[in-house]
Amino acid sequence: MTQHYRITLLPGDGIGPEIMAVAVDILKLVAQQLDLSFEFQEAPVGGVAIDATGNPLPDETLQICRNSDAVLLAAIGGYKWDSLPRHQRPETGLLGLRAGLGLFANLRPAKILPQLVDASSLKREVVEGVDIMVVRELTGGIYFGQPKGIFETETGEKRGVNTMAYTESEIDRIGRVAFETARKRGSKLCSVDKANVLEVSQLWRDRITLLAKEYPDVELSHLYVDNAAMQLVRWPKQFDTIVTGNLFGDILSDAAAMLTGSIGMLPSASLGASGPGVFEPVHGSAPDIAGLDKANPIAQVLSAAMMLRYGLNQPAAADKIELAAQQVLDAGYRTGDIMSEGMKLVGCRAMGDALLEALDR
Ligand code: NAD
Repeated sequence: MTQHYRITLLPGDGIGPEIMAVAVDILKLVAQQLDLSFEFQEAPVGGVAIDATGNPLPDETLQICRNSDAVLLAAIGGYKWDSLPRHQRPETGLLGLRAGLGLFANLRPAKILPQLVDASSLKREVVEGVDIMVVRELTGGIYFGQPKGIFETETGEKRGVNTMAYTESEIDRIGRVAFETARKRGSKLCSVDKANVLEVSQLWRDRITLLAKEYPDVELSHLYVDNAAMQLVRWPKQFDTIVTGNLFGDILSDAAAMLTGSIGMLPSASLGASGPGVFEPVHGSAPDIAGLDKANPIAQVLSAAMMLRYGLNQPAAADKIELAAQQVLDAGYRTGDIMSEGMKLVGCRAMGDALLEALDR
């Protein structure tokens, strides 16, 4: 029986519409091949939404997202909107989307593609074969804990305060996403905290350890965050799935991503307890190359693959897309951002055509 899905497309600004067009073509082809049916609905977010309505996340856009099975986002932002007040900035639309959909889990893979090993700043033997997923808690921890602010003390000196806090239920829900994610991968989960110093981390460790009883097939380990940072650059191949809080995850996911060396290749997923997830490239709207047919569409296409795997539970379709991306790189196609000697330089559209051809093979 044909599986039917409603997908909201948020192309956004800059290179967004160019890379989104490639991803949509790929999704249409894979749907034909695997007897899936996608109903796409496009909506404005970010700068385009500000221009059209004055609001970076119009209510109607959020409503369309809520009524869909998954949201595929490209990128938002650009010079034109940089000087607007904060509540009217494109980034505010993105935060509103995450909050509005209750997206508390951020999944950021860092996978070294064999064809791009030399783009990493680390040695070939250290990064070859690296395939890590960082699961970061996105809506709690020190970025949101109360009290926060800059207060005046009795002596008139200013004191800056943030609070790192997690409740048991917040830890459990991100823990479950992480164990489930590890199950879909190599079944190894490393929980990162600072339990030797922080009480909030001790609770984190206790809850994750308790949760592990429900997932006997997943091997759990724990690391302190300072050691985890060191191990990531020393021997990243020891990691399969990492779960951590908001602040540690922000830092470690960027470090892990850079092991791969190329921002135009990295997808991400943000998931909630129920309802649609948002799937988007890690990179921004690249206004410097917008409209020039120079953008690398692969991160967007791999975000569509993550949508199929983690949002719609269609791993076979995700596998096909990821394989096609490998094949175009094997064939030597490169956009400017990942170009190296002896390879074939192509633009965004030609890379899209090569991907379609590989998928059709
Ligand atoms: P950026 O990621 O847009 O660009 C950084 C550099 O990488 C640029 O030189 C760009 O040309 C290049 N690049 C990025 N993606 C590429 C791709 N797919 N193919 C080829 N080259 C690529 O980051 P920035 O320049 O710091 O930000 C530009 C705008 O994007 C800003 O308005 C920023 O706020 C916004 N931004 C949005 C998101 C998002 O939508 N999630 C994330 C980061 C930045």
